[in-house]
Formats: sequence, C-alpha cells, structure tokens
Amino acid sequence: MYGVMKDYNDPIKTFIPTRTKVPNLFFTGQNISLHGVLGVTISSVTTCSEFFGMEYLINKISKA
Ligand SMILES: Cc1cc2nc3c(=O)[nH]c(=O)nc-3n(C[C@H](O)[C@H](O)[C@H](O)COP(=O)(O)OP(=O)(O)OC[C@H]3O[C@@H](n4cnc5c(N)ncnc54)[C@H](O)[C@@H]3O)c2cc1C
Repeated sequence: MYGVMKDYNDPIKTFIPTRTKVPNLFFTGQNISLHGVLGVTISSVTTCSEFFGMEYLINKISKA
C-alpha cells in the first residue's frame, strides 16, 4: 500500500535513487522518498530536478 518497505535501521539499503544506471531512465513515485500524495509530489520534484536543476525548478514553482 505504501510502496517498498523502508528500514530505518539501514535507510541506505532501501533507498531507491531517481537516477538509474540506464541512460535516460528515471524513477519517481512513492518508492523514491515518501509515500502518499505529498511524498509523491516531493519525489516528482526531485526527479524533475534531475532535468532542470533544483534551483531553477523551485524558482519556477514559487513564481507559479
Ligand atoms: C486505499 C488507499 C488509500 C490511500 N489514501 C491516501 C491518503 O488519504 N492520502 C495520501 O497522501 N496517500 C494515500 N494513499 C497512498 C497514495 O495513494 C500513494 O502513496 C500514491 O498514490 C503513490 O503514487 P505513485 O504514483 O508512486 O504510485 P501509484 O499511484 O500506485 O501509480 C503507479 C501506476 O503505475 C501503474 N503501473 C504499475 N505497473 C505498471 C506497468 N508494468 N506498466 C505500466 N504501468 C504500470 C499502475 O497501474 C499505477 O497507475 C492511499 C493508498 C491506498 C492504497
């Protein structure tokens, strides 16, 4: 229901990055950072920042 089970004892073990080893294949969604509507929104911003850069993206969002 809430995506992959995270292990707070070893967070890196269950960490899934947005960038993959396959060129131009990126992940987003609840398995990346946090579950739920807010978590998925945050993970989509993280993924989009791979393309545009976080500073540019946050600037665009705050002016929208
Ligand atoms: C009953 C329920 C109630 C919830 N209530 C809340 C709530 O009140 N508030 C809240 O914040 N969160 C809630 N959540 C959690 C929230 O819905 C999820 O965290 C969020 O939808 C995850 O978004 P996502 O895009 O990562 O994955 P999903 O929304 O699961 O989207 C994944 C998509 O990929 C598709 N897919 C899967 N496999 C393939 C494939 N091989 N090829 C193509 N497409 C594929 C699926 O059909 C699906 O459309 C609830 C979850 C459930 C189950």
